[in-house]
Amino acid sequence: MFSKILIANRGEIALRIIRACREMGIKSVCVYSEADRDGPWLEQADEAYCIGPGPSNKSYLDISRVMATAEVSDVDAIHPGYGFLAENAHFAEVCESSGISFIGPSPEAIRLLGNKASARDLAVKSKVPLLPGTKELVEDEKEAIEIANDIGYPVIVKAAAGGGGRGMRVAHNEIALVNGYMQARTEAATAFGDDGVYIEKYLERPRHVEIQIISDSHGNYVYCGERDCSLQRRHQKLVEEAPSPVLTPELRQKMGETAVRLCKAAGYVTAGTAEFLLDKNGDFYFMEVNTRIQVEHTVSELVTRTDLIRAQIMAAAGEKLPFTQEDVEVRGHAIEVRINAEDPDNGFRPSPGTITDLFIPGGPGVRWDSHIKVGYTIPPTYDSMVAKLLVFADDRPQAIARMRRALGELKIEGVKTTTPLHQRIMNDGQFIKGDVDTGYIENVLLAK
Ligand code: ADP
Repeated sequence: MFSKILIANRGEIALRIIRACREMGIKSVCVYSEADRDGPWLEQADEAYCIGPGPSNKSYLDISRVMATAEVSDVDAIHPGYGFLAENAHFAEVCESSGISFIGPSPEAIRLLGNKASARDLAVKSKVPLLPGTKELVEDEKEAIEIANDIGYPVIVKAAAGGGGRGMRVAHNEIALVNGYMQARTEAATAFGDDGVYIEKYLERPRHVEIQIISDSHGNYVYCGERDCSLQRRHQKLVEEAPSPVLTPELRQKMGETAVRLCKAAGYVTAGTAEFLLDKNGDFYFMEVNTRIQVEHTVSELVTRTDLIRAQIMAAAGEKLPFTQEDVEVRGHAIEVRINAEDPDNGFRPSPGTITDLFIPGGPGVRWDSHIKVGYTIPPTYDSMVAKLLVFADDRPQAIARMRRALGELKIEGVKTTTPLHQRIMNDGQFIKGDVDTGYIENVLLAK
């Protein structure tokens, strides 16, 4: 097993990894930027080193600075968390060639599955259901129009290297397609340094259901149930729950086995998530694989009683997973809400600033994954998520009641947060019935 791990990330996920390391008797090393000097998670790490200025390309994304710190602090492995370098195949390669384990998939598996276009190709070969769309990248507007005419509107233009809901445009007709095609390419070039896009059929009002998988180098592949992430704004998740209110045990098994089949075909070892869209008829379509730990992994940890970060570290160290498929049973119900420092009354504008007062919810079945404390100043430089509030209960109605109670206790003063929106969701009749889709928040709840 490793004795020291460098965490190439910040905020709540850095703290989550520090916690796993401590429980495993592994020392943790954090790298941080000048904007994160006062990051409360740094106090919890065994060592912390400043590697550059606030902008991520000068610190968290600067491979040479991260690697120099890894060498100096003499770590055995690097955990990239999510975002930043987590899905960067080149970084995984640099780690490998420096004799430092990358806690994630192999560079080949990242290249194969991390790119949405090549993942689609592998899905076709592995008989994984897909929405109609292109196999190759779309080179120009003319080709885009031909493809859309072929598969029928509405269509969605997606960045092959995309993530976080960026580089995507929906088009219901040719004019919107021509505009959307150019916008998606420009946005993708800026955000991901890669302007490759492809086109697929746009499904109206689907649910987003994803399968968590984890595997080791001994051929043990396990799916840890699903997460329903249908509550989104601008294609970004706000609330996640497990199990999905609409999945039958048969469908769960079918989707789980499909995800495992795809990951096996890619020789994928570690934690990953296969994302699907599910329509009203119970038909599901593959979207992409996230080749990293996700924000919402916590939901699956609660319903399957696993520790996915620990499992990831064990898999990277060449050990066997501490469980097999037979051991993993989905029990109870978990809900997570993302608390972002944003103003829901003002177009969700980021609301960085200093936290002047804080009360953290607790009691039975409550989990709080966050790095914030009173006096901490949330920098404007990074993602606005400041906490994940989770609840776990025997069934969905009790979990919703528990989340209402926990949100009622939560107090974050000094900055605006998404807490009032979550309160509204937890009291919304349609959410309570489990009758929502990916457009629900924008088209119904916020349109009221
Ligand atoms: P990202 O990597 O940016 O998160 P995804 O491919 O995971 O992008 O898609 C994010 C969200 O966009 C999905 O959860 C869904 O709401 C919407 N979406 C993506 N593709 C489609 C599609 N073909 N039809 C309908 N909605 C889609």
